[in-house]
Amino acid sequence: LSTWSAVPAGPPDPILGITEAFKADKDPRKINLGVGAYRDENGKPYVLNAVKKAESLLTATSPDKEYLPITGLPEFTKHAAKLAYGADSVPLKEGAIAVTQSISGTGALRIGGAFLARHYPHSKIIYLPVPTWGNHIPIFKDSGLEVRGYRYFDKKSVGLDFEGLKEDLNNAPEGAIVLLHACAHNPTGVDPTHAQWAEISDVIASKKLFPFFDMAYQGFASGSTTHDAFAVRHFVKHGHQIALAQSFAKNMGLYGERVGLFSLTTKDAEEKKRVDSQLKIVIRPMYSNPPLHGALLANAILGNEELYQEWEGEVKGMAERIISMRERLYGLLTNELKTPGEWGHIKSQIGMFSFTGMKPEQCKALAEKAHVYLTMDGRISMAGLNGSNVEYFAASVDAAVK
Ligand code: PLP
Repeated sequence: LSTWSAVPAGPPDPILGITEAFKADKDPRKINLGVGAYRDENGKPYVLNAVKKAESLLTATSPDKEYLPITGLPEFTKHAAKLAYGADSVPLKEGAIAVTQSISGTGALRIGGAFLARHYPHSKIIYLPVPTWGNHIPIFKDSGLEVRGYRYFDKKSVGLDFEGLKEDLNNAPEGAIVLLHACAHNPTGVDPTHAQWAEISDVIASKKLFPFFDMAYQGFASGSTTHDAFAVRHFVKHGHQIALAQSFAKNMGLYGERVGLFSLTTKDAEEKKRVDSQLKIVIRPMYSNPPLHGALLANAILGNEELYQEWEGEVKGMAERIISMRERLYGLLTNELKTPGEWGHIKSQIGMFSFTGMKPEQCKALAEKAHVYLTMDGRISMAGLNGSNVEYFAASVDAAVK
């Protein structure tokens, strides 16, 4: 008998499984709207010019391949924290933010989960929005936290269930942890307004909840990294101590390089030092130290005024292409095809994804009849649409819902 004979087969990953089906499809019209990776106007993966230039600069200096410190490349983590918190952030200026490089956003969430499970004194319960990025649930369970949900999405209005959200946070046990998508909520594309963020901040303060921000799309929602950091900066300005996960996968297109950051705001430099020491103790047995190359690239961009400006321009370009696809798709469905249903949310939703409101059987029909692949919850990655395929996609949706 084999040692592993009792290991049951697990289910395939719901998102990566779609890519498999897409690859196997031989129809030339096929479209993959499953995975959350940016595609250019020709449907191809896009390496940013700022990244290409950073690669050349780096090659010219022929850096060695030594290990990074446990918490990563210090210049990079300094620049990246400034990008998130803002140059005028008080805890940043006071040296009160404990920061570590991480294995992209996923790794940042995992470090945060492990740190909170070990050191957060008030509760081991984390509230996640319903729905949320599917990986959040196992990340926090595996970290040793108890996962619960708060209402977020209203199927009827295809928008934010703001009253439900406030009610659930108000009913949460005092001291519980709350995960918030800082911008471009995945999978819904629905974000609170600035006024709603201010109210959420007040509820969280009054219930003494602990806010943990996941910022995987800074710059991708609006095209401006400053605008997209509003929620994080608002909370910090209003006296919250926060945890923050950052990713450079989407906004720098560094997906496979695994470049991210985890940080905690603390009371002062002395407390930060103690927190830093415990972050190292969490990280060292997990993976010792983070990958080098992507951090050098991101650092070259964030630390060089010219490359930084070029990068901000490219983030804006990616966001604008997505926004233009939203407008085009809305126009096709509403004005040209007169597709039954209300499609305004396609335009109002934000970031890489749109929650179309399509039912699982309609999504299945799209894959089987039209060779269009999306997740069964009706989420589409807007980045997979372009001038050459958006008309075919709209016609396929029209056929699927009629
Ligand atoms: N958080 C959210 C909401 C995401 O959508 C993603 C990626 O899809 C991530 C975190 C983490 O991605 P990565 O680990 O590639 O940075």
